[in-house]
Amino acid sequence: MTRIGTVAEMRIVSESYRNQGKRIGFVPTMGALHEGHLSLVRIARERTDAVVVSVFVNPLQFGKGEDFDRYPRNLERDAALLERCGTDILFCPREEDMYAVGHCTYIDVERLSSVLEGEHRPGHFRGVTTVVAQLFNIVRPHVAVFGQKDAQQAVIIRQMIRDLHYDIEMIVAPIVREADGLAMSSRNAYLAPSERTAALSISRGLRKAEEMYRTGEKDAQVLARTVEREILSERDMRIDYVAVVNPETLVEVTIASGAMIAVAARVGNTRLIDNTLLGQESAEK
Ligand code: AMP
Repeated sequence: MTRIGTVAEMRIVSESYRNQGKRIGFVPTMGALHEGHLSLVRIARERTDAVVVSVFVNPLQFGKGEDFDRYPRNLERDAALLERCGTDILFCPREEDMYAVGHCTYIDVERLSSVLEGEHRPGHFRGVTTVVAQLFNIVRPHVAVFGQKDAQQAVIIRQMIRDLHYDIEMIVAPIVREADGLAMSSRNAYLAPSERTAALSISRGLRKAEEMYRTGEKDAQVLARTVEREILSERDMRIDYVAVVNPETLVEVTIASGAMIAVAARVGNTRLIDNTLLGQESAEK
């Protein structure tokens, strides 16, 4: 595995892969890697000839008062994990390269960015799409792999790829969970043991709703209330939203057939998101 720290060098290496006829697979991350990230790397490995993983904690996607400063960073550990899963290039751009003095170009995917997470984290997706567009232009991948864990992000990036005519195949990989159901997340590292126990109510609630759906309940409100009740059965949990939406348009639905239940909840100072695609749970790992 080669580590690259500059945009200029990354461009040269990408160009060289392309000249050799190699297909480039790309997994953008913010580091603090776990099995969820590594599952994306393995998918890229299977599908392409050269795998590039970026680690960049993108300041633009954090709001004021969010956790940018304390976001977990451990590049040496990340590098070792990536090397073991067959990563070819670890790309760690510098902030001053990505956002040079005078940077003033932003990518905004309207409508899709304003609902759900967008309502609670204004500007978040503008930060995500701006950095992902830059990374796409630098790495020039043939295939990019994202996680269903950040379902809204995946929908927005798919729209951006379409709208900006990126010639990139996008793959969305299933959510990887801990054995007890908690969706893996770099932010799980913030959780005290009692908070982690409380946080399990999120995946428990989603599983309950899936089970009700399987046995015939299609009323979106009933399913949403089921998830909410389960989460609020834990005293320390606060809900930002539980929404039953069309998984492509993110518009709320009343009949849950083929819908996605998306959840954002907080425990202590930690904000967690999770979701399930109704009728497709078997696809999850
Ligand atoms: P992040 O480092 O949080 O920006 O995430 C980088 C990529 O990993 C995104 O495409 C996420 O959706 C994906 N990801 C994060 N957690 C998981 C998970 N538990 N399962 C699958 N993909 C994940």
